[in-house]
Amino acid sequence: MPAQNADQPRPVAKRLTVLSGPSGVGKSTVVAHLREVDPDVWLSVSVTTRAPRPGEREGVQYHFVTDEEFDRLIEQGELLEWACFAGNRYGTPRGPVQERLDSGVPVLLEIELQGARQVRESMSDALHVFLAPPSWEELVRRLTGRGTESDEVIQRRLEAAKVELAAEKEFDTTLVNTSVQEVCDELLALMTAPKV
Ligand code: ADP
Ligand code: 5GP
Repeated sequence: MPAQNADQPRPVAKRLTVLSGPSGVGKSTVVAHLREVDPDVWLSVSVTTRAPRPGEREGVQYHFVTDEEFDRLIEQGELLEWACFAGNRYGTPRGPVQERLDSGVPVLLEIELQGARQVRESMSDALHVFLAPPSWEELVRRLTGRGTESDEVIQRRLEAAKVELAAEKEFDTTLVNTSVQEVCDELLALMTAPKV
């Protein structure tokens, strides 16, 4: 066994991971699967001004808030990042994220591009993962097939998707969502990989 060198930095796991990618690529599906596989990973619950989709519950997928409440959260500095996306606002509550990071729990943020950029500015050692579709046609199929948005909202999300796809190189790594199980395994491996 090689002797331990006390001067060498000890490898530690990255604790904050940002998962981003175009709407409909499968972020929520991957995150839901990951939480089943590894309940130790803590997923931040965002606030949003968007209306709940059928089956979505307050405090589980999101905290659903009014525009006034969202304004208040911004004014009081309670959001780690926030952005407008396809006609609604979304943000990450700062307090719960900081608490988990302070106690060493791996934290996952599932957020869009503008928010990911803000996190890169404020928390420089976060790991940024881009989730990409196998093809543009498959992305359109998934977004349309989900059946949760009107045609107009789908068009807005597809416009945003072009911008998000063009920003892939800003991320530390890309995972292609062909198989949810494989992406989930790869993401978990990245989240727990040692960093020096
Ligand atoms: P996002 O959270 O990125 O907007 P969703 O998780 O809601 O995307 O997924 C969009 C649609 O694509 C859903 O109907 C979901 O079941 C489907 N989907 C997700 N991952 C895959 C995959 N690997 N293969 C096929 N369909 C998928
Ligand atoms: P959806 O309406 O489909 O749930 O989410 C729309 C987009 O908002 C997705 O790309 C999702 O990742 C992103 N999003 C969800 N929560 C947040 C957040 O707290 N901050 C930011 N910036 N984006 C978010």
